[in-house]
Amino acid sequence: RHVLEIKGLGHTYDDGHRAIDGIDLEVARGELVSLVGPSGCGKSTLLRCVAGLVRPSEGTVAVDGRTVDRVPDDLAVVFQDYTRSLFPWLTVRDNVALPLRRRGLARTERRAAADAALGEVGLASAARKYPWQLSGGMQQRAAIARALAYRPSLLLMDEPFGSVDAQTREDLEDVLLRVRGGTEMTVLLVTHDIDESVYVGDRVVVLTGSPGRVHSDLRVDLPGPRD
Ligand code: ADP
Ligand code: ADP
Repeated sequence: RHVLEIKGLGHTYDDGHRAIDGIDLEVARGELVSLVGPSGCGKSTLLRCVAGLVRPSEGTVAVDGRTVDRVPDDLAVVFQDYTRSLFPWLTVRDNVALPLRRRGLARTERRAAADAALGEVGLASAARKYPWQLSGGMQQRAAIARALAYRPSLLLMDEPFGSVDAQTREDLEDVLLRVRGGTEMTVLLVTHDIDESVYVGDRVVVLTGSPGRVHSDLRVDLPGPRD
């Protein structure tokens, strides 16, 4: 069975704006699916429906065979907008460690896992700082570290590397592949960067139009760090 099953998904926002229409998509456990397409084709809307943040007007989203009617338990989301993703009153380390309470980890284990994830994204030295003391790109890396430390079974990322420089972006793409390697983590990654979509994705799903529909669904077979 697929970890993610989307059937006939359509959504019209309250203001009458129709964002997506008739989207069918199945994602196998452990797959990394890149979602690409022009601005406004409904990528974020699709992701919000999967995250349980938008209740779709039509169709269904099922995660692990259960229809999504609220935010699924074993999910992490990285949004494009880093300014709203970290709690300003917590240190970077505590931000990353906080969700791990749901994993039943003790305080020292949570801190160790947080520090390890911060090390992965090159933020070891920022662990004791507060989010507002970091640049935008660093805040975004902290949000990525938080999601990766949680080791969700489903990870949704909406333009996660949009606010970092080109070299850091490449580094973070490799971090994502490394952390995911050997696990069953399923990832949906929205990106406008075609190179990135092919480099990190096992599959590239292209949305087009307004409202957005699936235009094509391509399997990627590249030699690279995954082999
Ligand atoms: P993408 O992520 O591909 O850029 P979005 O899902 O953000 O696309 O948006 C799809 C369409 O829905 C766009 O035309 C956008 O303006 C519209 N839209 C997005 N969010 C809302 C909202 N909260 N209310 C009304 N319209 C929205
Ligand atoms: P993206 O393309 O990355 O999804 P957008 O610029 O389309 O980003 O949207 C940024 C934010 O504005 C989102 O939270 C989206 O829901 C909201 N938004 C976009 N279009 C509309 C709209 N027509 N009406 C209300 N909110 C919108």
